[in-house]
Amino acid sequence: MSGEANPFESLQEQVDDAAAYLDVSGDVLERLKHPERVLELNLSVDLDDGSVGRFRAFRSEFNGDRGPYKGGIRYHPGVSRDEVKALSGWMVYKCAVVDIPYGGGKGGIDVDPAEYSAAELERITRSFAEELRPFIGEDTDIPAPDVNTGQREMNWIKDTYETLENTTEPGVVTGKSLESGGSEGRVEATGRSTMLTAREAFDYLGKEMEGADVAVQGYGNAGHIAAYLLEDLGADVVAVSDSSGAIYHEHGFDTRDVKEHKNETGSVTGYGGADEQFSNEDLLTFDVDLLVPAALENAVDGDLARDVRADVVVEAANGPLTPDADDVLTERDVAVFPDILANAGGVTVSYFEWVQNRQRFYWSEERVNDELETQIVSAFEDLIDCYEALDVPNFRTAAYVVAIQRVVDAYMDNGNWP
Ligand code: GLU
Repeated sequence: MSGEANPFESLQEQVDDAAAYLDVSGDVLERLKHPERVLELNLSVDLDDGSVGRFRAFRSEFNGDRGPYKGGIRYHPGVSRDEVKALSGWMVYKCAVVDIPYGGGKGGIDVDPAEYSAAELERITRSFAEELRPFIGEDTDIPAPDVNTGQREMNWIKDTYETLENTTEPGVVTGKSLESGGSEGRVEATGRSTMLTAREAFDYLGKEMEGADVAVQGYGNAGHIAAYLLEDLGADVVAVSDSSGAIYHEHGFDTRDVKEHKNETGSVTGYGGADEQFSNEDLLTFDVDLLVPAALENAVDGDLARDVRADVVVEAANGPLTPDADDVLTERDVAVFPDILANAGGVTVSYFEWVQNRQRFYWSEERVNDELETQIVSAFEDLIDCYEALDVPNFRTAAYVVAIQRVVDAYMDNGNWP
């Protein structure tokens, strides 16, 4: 991380920027900048060596005006209350911009999963799920995967919840394995929405994707899938990175092969086809047509933004640009397509998973991908309509204007109780 911006303050600044273009009263605006409820936990879990591990864990329920709180759970060292609050707010606006009937939530545990055995991670996850049980449910708050969590953790949460509640309720959590009630296409969904956003953005800007040079920062679930789907569209993915460093190849990588190398060795670095090795930060300033930050928040701050040479940035990570970076890139005419649209495929297919769980009727992968494309393309069009109609400074502000208006409309229609 090059920037030290507090992500919660970044979220509030983004909401304020958009509110300037909306007719929203000060009180309502304040509601949109603070979570409704934050749960902070201290989990005590038996470790394999007989000692007891203590872990700080959080779940922030930001806003439920449009539906149940929805959002992932991340396992990462240093996960903090403010980080989770910000991420839960981004979920509210993400669900609103793609117009799915959810509010926003997010959770996390301050843990480095690489330091624990699978049995320990299972106990940590089940302990968290037990504490979350009074708050979660298919109509109240629905967790999902996020950084360093996936199907395995979601299956554990579902099983813990269902066992304690003596029920079957697969829609209590999304991102499960297929056997456990997951959806076709869910694993690819985040990267797929990044590809679709980039494709629509290039089309809108009159740029060719065929032969475009692309750099992808982060080679986890979102990054590597976005990379191979962009390669499938004809782009040259010339640079990729992970926390160990970046690799560059002027003619573009076979991105699936790079992933196999990472699976075998733990990193993209040292991949055979690479010309030479660079730092993760170098990659952000490579001279490319498209930059896809797909790692963590605050990857690009105001200083680094001055050196970004990409024409277009499509955010696969949540919050990878600080507000200062946004200002600099807007001033430099770099087109930034925001996270709340570009990585919304994950939660959109979570929504499809939840619909399938509730109907106990499962869709083909083709249907999932078609419905996802419809949802993302339509959200992209709404964003462009707003951008052109209101003359907002950048696409992020346009996305927030669309999203905030939808949340405010729901709130005003619902009214307050009592
Ligand atoms: N963690 C993902 C996100 O940040 C997915 C959330 C979900 O599927 O609910 O959008």
